[in-house]
Amino acid sequence: MSKQPPPYSEEQQPGYTPASYYQPPHPQPPPQQSTVIITTTTPSLVPIGSGPTHITCPSCHAQVLTTVKTEATSRTHCWALLLCLVGLWPCVCLPYCMDSCQNSNHYCPNCNAYIGTYQS
Ligand SMILES: [Zn+2]
Repeated sequence: MSKQPPPYSEEQQPGYTPASYYQPPHPQPPPQQSTVIITTTTPSLVPIGSGPTHITCPSCHAQVLTTVKTEATSRTHCWALLLCLVGLWPCVCLPYCMDSCQNSNHYCPNCNAYIGTYQS
């Protein structure tokens, strides 16, 4: 004689009010954090361009025309590597000669203070 498992078809009785009538307070979703993180790439406070710029030196407070010294960046090396890869290795020095591929460091001609870097 085999015992049959009890059927799992226990239907709710009509008229029976389940506990779901009582609506538990829904947990409030956490408020959307809308904080905008402003990251500035140029640490300088003065707007500078790729070329010599008229600014007030933050160090000696004189109206100066900045002296620009270009500096090879990782991007410059990337361009050189790229030229190597495509077989244009004779042009490898090209990015190092192009100001647009390099950072422009601005210095004060008056006190030689570093003012900022223009990243092209
Ligand atoms: Zn200065």
